[in-house]
Amino acid sequence: MATGRSYKLNAGISIPALGLGTWQSPDAEVYTAVLTALEVGYKHIDSAFCYGNEQPVGKAIADSPVAREDIFLTTKLWSTYHSRVAEALDLSLKNLGTDYVDLYLMHWPVPMNPAGNHPMFPTRADGSRDLVAEADWDFVKTWAEMQKLLGTGKVKAIGVCNFSIHNLEILLKAPTTTVVPAVNQCEMHPYLPQFKLFEYCAAKGIHMTAYSPLGSTSAPLQDEAVVQKVAEANGKSAAQVLISWGIQRGASVIPKSVTPSRIEANFQDFVVADADMAALDAISKTTTKRVVSPAWGVKIFHDE
Ligand code: NDP
Repeated sequence: MATGRSYKLNAGISIPALGLGTWQSPDAEVYTAVLTALEVGYKHIDSAFCYGNEQPVGKAIADSPVAREDIFLTTKLWSTYHSRVAEALDLSLKNLGTDYVDLYLMHWPVPMNPAGNHPMFPTRADGSRDLVAEADWDFVKTWAEMQKLLGTGKVKAIGVCNFSIHNLEILLKAPTTTVVPAVNQCEMHPYLPQFKLFEYCAAKGIHMTAYSPLGSTSAPLQDEAVVQKVAEANGKSAAQVLISWGIQRGASVIPKSVTPSRIEANFQDFVVADADMAALDAISKTTTKRVVSPAWGVKIFHDE
């Protein structure tokens, strides 16, 4: 379909339903990937400071004939920068070569030591991730800092990633919270449909973006029998089914690819019939699986 479906965020701007993911996209390939995506009609690019490739992403946006203001660009605050939010955003803007991002997301609800043994992934002597003690800093304080960005013109909306209902409740009830996150970007696919979290976010006016919609690296969800069946019956690819299922639920979906033919094919979303939606929704009754689950050492995914 690629009709430019989009959703209105509580911040007043719209997020295009289909975006290009860029995690694990090597520098040399992500430049071409973003250029290709913009050429075939994508208007939404998902990036992050931690992916280490904001520069080629930004260069492709600058080199593309599509105007910056017609592109919805997301980037994310990395965990070692929770107490340095303004500084982190400026670093990302410099990397991306732009004055603003449309959406700035807290990448994980976990602050890591900003002065540890590594600037991005500090570890303790036992090899575990070097987290900041909750008494010293927490995601509520980070959010208070992120709220200040809204007045700077450097972000149009702010949001979170990987927030469970439990953590959203803490955030929304905090006296310092004056802005409801516009987006909660989470892993979401038929093996992890996040029905409860999705319903909770909808009730709070928080839009959900589905990451790893194909099951992440090598797109393992393509081989799922029900997905294959729906794909065959509709003359679509498994990836198109997975992407369209997410969009039809009301999420924005950000499949990653550095392969031009896949980038183009993934953009062809279609309307999935109710019976097919029901069959895809039922997959998690027999199989559930979370793919992206870093060893943070603290509980994050309370909804399971
Ligand atoms: P995806 O589910 O998007 O899958 C990516 C994999 O699928 C790659 O190996 C890609 O290969 C392959 N692929 C893509 N399209 C097709 C196709 N049509 N047919 C066959 N294979 C295909 O995984 P990601 O984990 O990358 O998630 C998407 C994006 O979500 C990320 O890139 C990132 O932007 C975001 N994200 C955010 C997180 C967060 O914490 N907020 C965490 C994880 C992801 P190839 O590239 O070689 O074509």
